[in-house]
Amino acid sequence: MELSKRQEFIIEIVKEQGPITGEKIAEQLDLTRATLRPDLAILTMAGYLDARPRVGYFFTGKTGSELLTEKLKKFKVGDFQSVPIVVDENVSAYDAIINMFLEDVGTIFVTDQHSKLVGLLSRKDLLRASIGNQDLSSVPVHIIMTRMPNIAYCSADDLLLDAAQTLIERQIDGLPVVEEKEDGVEVVGRLTKTNIAKALVELGRDEHV
Ligand code: ADP
Repeated sequence: MELSKRQEFIIEIVKEQGPITGEKIAEQLDLTRATLRPDLAILTMAGYLDARPRVGYFFTGKTGSELLTEKLKKFKVGDFQSVPIVVDENVSAYDAIINMFLEDVGTIFVTDQHSKLVGLLSRKDLLRASIGNQDLSSVPVHIIMTRMPNIAYCSADDLLLDAAQTLIERQIDGLPVVEEKEDGVEVVGRLTKTNIAKALVELGRDEHV
């Protein structure tokens, strides 16, 4: 977050004289308490300052990068996930390719008749299947997919950082976001490298509160 000159000045005053009341800060800046209130609210919300009733404001001692890390560690998968694209395990590889183009995704999730996750297809899986001159419209996706239990997945409550770590460790582009049920897992979302790039941009531009 870019601080204004006045906000930086307030931090300096609180650093040197804290705990200090809002009124005293206002006096020193030759401002009214009301004019100062939004700045104090921003600095408190952003974590630079803390306020104690009847004591006043004090400096938390946290640097900009510490505050940024704190924010990043609060990001959840559910805040950034996209809509999943899902096909039944019996559709053909040909239809899966068409789906991939129409939906503009790189990974398609495969479910069984009970809508439970049984596998997934990446671009490379479909390319590999197309190499052998097979008739792709007669090859069901369950023959060529990566299947459970080898699928890495996450839940909407997981930390975005942990999901990103899984993508790196497994060298994959995306994860299904699932809800675990007694008889299997249901796909509720899709988390890709693009979602993580978006989170990074929001953080850098300070759009995520
Ligand atoms: P691409 O095929 O476009 O390079 P990936 O790198 O995501 O895409 O996929 C590489 C391989 O890893 C594929 O065989 C794919 O089926 C598999 N894969 C992709 N995502 C997962 C996942 N979440 N869990 C397990 N395997 C996966």
